[in-house]
Amino acid sequence: MKVTDHIINAQGKTQFSFEILPPLKGQNISEIFNQMDPLMEFKPPFVDVTYHREEYVYKELENGLLQKKVVRKRPGTVGICAAIQNKYQVDAIPHILCGGFTKEDTENFLIDLGFLGIDNVMALRGDAVKTETYFAPEKNGHSYAGDLVRQISELNKGTYLDTEIENQAKTDFCIGVAGYPEKHMEAPSLDSDIHFLKKKIKQGATYIVTQMFFDNTKYFEFVKKCRDAGITVPIIPGLKPLATKKQLNLIPHRFSLELPDPLISQVIKCKNNAAVRQVGVEWCIQQSKELIAAKVPVLHYYSMGKSDNIKAIAADLF
Ligand code: FAD
Repeated sequence: MKVTDHIINAQGKTQFSFEILPPLKGQNISEIFNQMDPLMEFKPPFVDVTYHREEYVYKELENGLLQKKVVRKRPGTVGICAAIQNKYQVDAIPHILCGGFTKEDTENFLIDLGFLGIDNVMALRGDAVKTETYFAPEKNGHSYAGDLVRQISELNKGTYLDTEIENQAKTDFCIGVAGYPEKHMEAPSLDSDIHFLKKKIKQGATYIVTQMFFDNTKYFEFVKKCRDAGITVPIIPGLKPLATKKQLNLIPHRFSLELPDPLISQVIKCKNNAAVRQVGVEWCIQQSKELIAAKVPVLHYYSMGKSDNIKAIAADLF
């Protein structure tokens, strides 16, 4: 079922969902099931599965020269989605990127998803590969998520890249896109970012999932700005409980966001990461309670491969 239909069917009740990462190459699908099993009692209508493109690593050879190697550390997004739908009978949402995909690759990926009975996709640009400063599209690929959204929308109308294909089957994907309450790191301003977010909706996206935030005011102000700009689709808040002291520096740097001072001082006082985990859970529960009171459609948790803290939060709320 489409995310937008799940939201309509819930009749104003906030639902629980979460995002998982494919396991590192070499690990078993049981890694995923072990993470998901404890969370299924909270009845998520859908589960997101991230997509991880190739990375370049440099290996030092015996002669001292460096050999460039292309690796994909976390393949398996589509297979995991199929396995989740089969095992748990919930909608699995694969993330799909501009980065690393030609338009032809995108079309073929979408055809696979359609055949597997997947109803939703999360359309993203992807970041620059770690060894490059700026995002670079593939030759004959998309530069922005909006262009990818347009290609998916065209396939939903039965328009394929090869216009000579006959009896074109239409896909019927519900398309989600990313929104950034504290603006995307490359955007010159929040207004400019919201301008392009609106464009992604015009190009065919029907719901937004936000980047994580730790201060609900940022989300409420973002939603207001989006509504004022004429964006009417559901805006699903994305939340992540802090779990380690290191994340105090990592998260603001990696995701270009601010942590609130009261949260920072609580974490600094923690003697170990078990204590940080507890602070993270409690902070996230308070955020979640306020968001539920504000009648958000779904609370979407970034599990980052660990489910015990998400379970502790969900057990308190759902
Ligand atoms: P875009 O919407 O294309 O925006 C990128 C930047 O370009 C923004 O600054 C925007 O303002 C600007 N912009 C947009 N359109 C235009 C235009 N037409 N002209 C000029 N400027 C424009 N990454 C992964 O690799 N895998 C994942 O699975 C993944 N999942 C994610 C899930 C969520 C909910 C979120 C919030 C992010 C996720 N990301 C993932 C990270 C994401 O790929 C990065 O944040 C990336 O840098 C931007 O992606 P986007 O889709 O928001 O890009």
